[in-house]
Amino acid sequence: MENLQEERVFQLVRELLQREEYSHVCKCPDCFVDIAAIALNALPAEYVADKYYKFPETAESVKSKQEAATKQILDAIAKVTQRPHHD
Ligand SMILES: [Zn+2]
Repeated sequence: MENLQEERVFQLVRELLQREEYSHVCKCPDCFVDIAAIALNALPAEYVADKYYKFPETAESVKSKQEAATKQILDAIAKVTQRPHHD
């Protein structure tokens, strides 16, 4: 089983953290995984039997899922930045 949401979230976290406005965010593996985990917990899982066995989604559906994921990731970035699990 594959959770398609994982692929989407990890990809978006990488993209967002590269932006200038998030240059202050810690990019260590701990914080990276924390951010992704918090976002994934807040989003519905999207399990498929095989990640290569899927049907094309409409552009609209892709966009709305990306927007929902981005919103949760931004919340997660704010949380982890306030309280990183390290000094
Ligand atoms: Zn860190």
